[in-house]
Amino acid sequence: MRRIYLDNNATTPVLPEVLEAMRPYFGEHFGNASSIHHHGQEARAAVERARDRVALLLGCRAAEIVCTSGGTEGDNLALAGVTTPGDHIITSCIEHDAVLHACQHLEKMGCEVTYIPVDGRGLVDPEDVRRALRANTKLISIMMANNETGVLQPAEEIGNFAEEADVYFHIDAVQAAAKVPIDVNRIACDLLSISGHKIHAPQGVGALYVRKGTHLQPLFYGGRHERSRRAGTENVPGIVALGKAAELAMQAFERGDDRKMSGLRDRLQQGILIQAESAGVNGEGAPRVPNTTNIYFDHIDGEAMAISLDLKGLAVSTGAACSSGAIEPSHVLTAMGLAATRARSSIRFSLGKQNTAEDVDFALALVPEVVSRLRELSPTSGKRAMF
Ligand code: PLP
Repeated sequence: MRRIYLDNNATTPVLPEVLEAMRPYFGEHFGNASSIHHHGQEARAAVERARDRVALLLGCRAAEIVCTSGGTEGDNLALAGVTTPGDHIITSCIEHDAVLHACQHLEKMGCEVTYIPVDGRGLVDPEDVRRALRANTKLISIMMANNETGVLQPAEEIGNFAEEADVYFHIDAVQAAAKVPIDVNRIACDLLSISGHKIHAPQGVGALYVRKGTHLQPLFYGGRHERSRRAGTENVPGIVALGKAAELAMQAFERGDDRKMSGLRDRLQQGILIQAESAGVNGEGAPRVPNTTNIYFDHIDGEAMAISLDLKGLAVSTGAACSSGAIEPSHVLTAMGLAATRARSSIRFSLGKQNTAEDVDFALALVPEVVSRLRELSPTSGKRAMF
């Protein structure tokens, strides 16, 4: 059976070039990057080459990159690393749980947290962030791109307010990296997290940009790895893969692949909206990353639709992957003002570098058919209600 994967915001397949780059570090180049002998130096050189590439992707110095196990660790390290009890943190209602749950933990530890709302398009108003600043505000943490809607937040404006107020600014850029160009100096952020498995590197590796001069408390205690910011023997194959994925992402920007990606996404979105009634885009009118569209289909249960599509070979998602199976409607969509039923009727389509125009055609042939079949069965749809 043909299987098409349009759930790249959950995870992406490792690109063949990335797999090739990392493979030797499982085998002949197996050294520990902290060892002084030949094997260790080989591993160290590979880690530092990869760090240079990640730094290029983010526009920073290599020494400002801390290799992590992924986005969750980067977010936790950023938040817990610069705050102490009594500090005030500003974040948004639509963050990933990696930030929201870290904030909830820090509240229990004595921090105060303000959760900024979003408008109907899913956008944070930078003025709301400015108004929330207090004398004890230590950190602003706002994501660059939302994982469910792909909506891009006004990071530069928020960065300006953070700089003026002399407050740390952390960006969860897990869903923005390799999709839109990032320059940490233009945004004026102090901390920025990315994750390997969202950019065609493997799961279990990531990076946190830490601006020079930022006093960061580590999460783990151990050896002096990563300049004492992240103890633990480096995941050499993973870091090499992250570096390769970062290099490929830079080349893709130079080729204009992001514009091609948004062209494919727009064709998918328009094709669905033309064929399916009572459907619309969540985040319409806001700037978005090029690969994501989140569409509601009234009178349809999103879980039922995702399962029906999967049975026919199309993988999509009903929201954040980690909340799959939860009965609660998406906190992101409800924060945007969607009624619970509409939030539950929403499907996220997210493309990756491996997707082709044929994949979009496959989805366009399938989605309207599944929508109309499920609506036939829906007790709330007009068709059924007539009987
Ligand atoms: N932040 C965002 C916006 C995400 O989408 C995710 C993963 O879905 C994470 C953080 C967590 O990243 P990781 O899976 O690498 O821990």
